[in-house]
Amino acid sequence: MTPHPADCHPRPDFGGLRYGLGLRFVALLVQKFGGSSVADAERIRTVASRIVAAKRSGDDVVVVVSAMGDTTDDLIALAEQVSPAPPGRELDMLLTAGERIAMALLAMAISDLGEQARSYTGSQAGVLTDSAHGRARIIDVTPGRIESALAEGAIPIVAGFQGISPDTKDITTLGRGGSDTTAVALAAALRADVCEIYTDVDGVFTADPRLVPRARQVARLGYEEMLELAASGAKVLHLRCVEYARRAGVPIHVRSSFSTRTGSWVTEQRDEMEQPIITGIAHDLGDAKIVVTAVPDKPGEAAAIFTAVAEAGVNIDMIVQNVSSGSGQTTDITFTLPKNAVAAARAALSERREAIGFASLLVDDEIAKVSLVGAGMRSHPGVSAQFFSALAGAGVNVEMISTSEIRISVIVRAVDAPTAVRALHTSFGLDSPEEAVVYAGTGR
Ligand code: ADP
Ligand code: ASP
Ligand code: MG
Repeated sequence: MTPHPADCHPRPDFGGLRYGLGLRFVALLVQKFGGSSVADAERIRTVASRIVAAKRSGDDVVVVVSAMGDTTDDLIALAEQVSPAPPGRELDMLLTAGERIAMALLAMAISDLGEQARSYTGSQAGVLTDSAHGRARIIDVTPGRIESALAEGAIPIVAGFQGISPDTKDITTLGRGGSDTTAVALAAALRADVCEIYTDVDGVFTADPRLVPRARQVARLGYEEMLELAASGAKVLHLRCVEYARRAGVPIHVRSSFSTRTGSWVTEQRDEMEQPIITGIAHDLGDAKIVVTAVPDKPGEAAAIFTAVAEAGVNIDMIVQNVSSGSGQTTDITFTLPKNAVAAARAALSERREAIGFASLLVDDEIAKVSLVGAGMRSHPGVSAQFFSALAGAGVNVEMISTSEIRISVIVRAVDAPTAVRALHTSFGLDSPEEAVVYAGTGR
């Protein structure tokens, strides 16, 4: 019987280290390369050399790759030219082609350097998901073929962002940015020592370095803070990937494929004393706001509105209720939701306008969410006061507010987002003396 690779690659804290011939600990690395890291043939060859170097230094490597450059955006645009509302099954089939191209090219570049490489689709790699096209969740990973490839000394290259639903037997995608989640899920299933996420910046910064050149790299942060940052729009890591890593205890090292610098480690933070008050600031331009005007001010109205929206499969984020500007006993209920869910929410509410009794729906998609995140915030008074003073000082008007134990978020005008983020960054003393490097990518 061949040993389960998990037995060959225990994490150090599981004991029973595996040593190579020179009595060196052999680690199992999962390395994920994002779109800008494999944007063209030259980048693919560079990444291939890096993977081969890791393998030749004695570690075992499993690679996860995204589609080249802006391929996914281009494929979506192409689909929309053919059909304004493409069926989810077919859109997923189309989009997964992007990762297949990248994985095969990367495998070719690696074999050109003299190492064995084998590419696998998500389905071949055992990434099993539910059947929700465009936002599938991983339900299990059965990486038998990856384990066999490793046992034979080959480098497996897995297509990110995709899986197969055992129920429908259809190919699914995990949602934009989902290759990070593939990497962590594989790292968990293979009990890898680390999941390295290679991207176009040097790690996790205190704000998006494309917006804040003085953003500071964070050396180490906890899953909890990274979850809040990712949920608030810091797309350097996919939200589900951080959730998965926290659940499975996978350490993530976010770093650049364009430099050899140490990146940022996302792990369990055990020492509360070391937690900074503020970890960073995130912004999100992906939401819209809907105002449901002149809702009768009586019990059951909010329930009717949010039931209609939920039944349309729409996730909402912030909610506020104010006295309506119209006359009489009515209120306005305002909520935010992803821009791409506006049509569904609008249709669901319009259908029940008479039953609910509201006057109109006002949609505004020129908004931004700006969030301040920090685990130390829970034990430090005065953070909110400083937050709102900084925004006021920058002349930014706040439209909605929501908070968690370790986050304050506001909705502002989209055009005010850069000013708001920079003002907060400076006010909370996060500005670095050095400029952050953005190596590539369009930030799309
Ligand atoms: P990849 O294609 O490698 O997956 P992404 O574009 O998904 O890369 O994520 C990297 C980008 O995330 C960076 O180029 C940067 O603009 C953006 N970003 C947003 N917030 C942050 C942050 N706090 N730290 C680092 N990068 C961030
Ligand atoms: N290619 C997919 C996207 O652009 C997945 C990813 O890059 O993580 O969203
Ligand atoms: Mg990404």
